[in-house]
Amino acid sequence: MRIEDEALFDLFRGPGACDVCGAVVRRREPHHIIHRGRARLDLRWNILGVCAFPEGNNCHYRIHAATMTIEGQRLTREDLFVLVSLREGVAIDDIEPVLWCLARLPRGCRPWEFDRETAGLTPVQREWVVRFMERPGRAR
Ligand SMILES: [Zn+2]
Ligand SMILES: [Zn+2]
Repeated sequence: MRIEDEALFDLFRGPGACDVCGAVVRRREPHHIIHRGRARLDLRWNILGVCAFPEGNNCHYRIHAATMTIEGQRLTREDLFVLVSLREGVAIDDIEPVLWCLARLPRGCRPWEFDRETAGLTPVQREWVVRFMERPGRAR
């Protein structure tokens, strides 16, 4: 599924503090934590604003090159989810399954597809999926 939101994307561009290293830089770029195949999820839960090349600690380039480290440890996707969960004040246990579910769901999914893909979610998580899908003109 694709959920596109250019206005949201813009919030994670330009000057500000990098969501990964904390450096205050003139240019940040939005990074999608889940970016897989044709799925694009422009949701706050899936986007970090990170140092754009060659600003600050060059975080965006290093995340994609898998050379980003924090205190000597290689940064994983789990770490990015932890950062977004702290920023948004939402439990990582809710963020991850909801985003993966949205990424898997086909656009214009049938009720039985929705039931199948959300079978493992809690009622609250299923509600989040519906809310994100129903934002008018964005999910497709
Ligand atoms: Zn940075
Ligand atoms: Zn990126």
